[in-house]
Amino acid sequence: MTQRPTVIAGNWKMHFTKRTASRLAREVVAMHNAHPQSECIVFPTFVHLEHVRRNLKNSGVVLGAQNCHEAKTGACTGEISPYMLRDMGAEVVLVGHSERRHDFGESNERLAKKLKTALRAKLDVILCIGETQAERESGDTFVVLARQMAALKGVKAELAPRIRIAYEPVWAIGTGLTATPEIAQEAHAETRRLIAEHFGPDAAATMPILYGGSVKPANVTELLAQPDIDGALVGGASLTIENFGPLLSAAPK
Ligand code: PEP
Repeated sequence: MTQRPTVIAGNWKMHFTKRTASRLAREVVAMHNAHPQSECIVFPTFVHLEHVRRNLKNSGVVLGAQNCHEAKTGACTGEISPYMLRDMGAEVVLVGHSERRHDFGESNERLAKKLKTALRAKLDVILCIGETQAERESGDTFVVLARQMAALKGVKAELAPRIRIAYEPVWAIGTGLTATPEIAQEAHAETRRLIAEHFGPDAAATMPILYGGSVKPANVTELLAQPDIDGALVGGASLTIENFGPLLSAAPK
């Protein structure tokens, strides 16, 4: 029996209106209430945070944000500070999603700053890591994971309980290609070894590592059955309760 909770998280990306986001939030709450065995987090877009927050109120479902800036305040037109997110009721933020890394050019150095500012703002963090197809094919997966996990350098071990990692191979995000449970497990085991290097064995034993990349009802059970896969960060299949609901009910009791 692992000491880690199962975490099922839905990244809603740039989808929905305030009405449809609110409706999905209510549906997720109802499903989570019926299957409370997992920790459930939803990540609406910034402009829907308040609408979703109202619909999650007093439920166990946690409100998250998809990104934040690395500064507390300042001349950063179009950006959002983690302190503002906390003020809006968000409790957790994604740092380093592959779309931020690859489509918006966010470097490991910048992401390390975001992670630290978010923790200072009292947001929990899900640090997303993962290799591209080319990096996997050239045998560099573990080198890339180590480089991305270096964002944790300088973070005090006492903050480790507020951090989770999401391993999301870029080649499996939004493509319909899922890493086999064995491939995912191998990367998760390496990630856990890197957590131990940063924070020690206790943090490695207790920090949840989520898998992300085309998770859906048909593959979630075999992924969650792997010893080092503690949950899922879900994009496409989080957008309807028909797909997301079964992921919540699949979490082991
Ligand atoms: C994601 O965006 O984090 C993700 C894993 O997307 P999808 O489930 O659609 O592959």
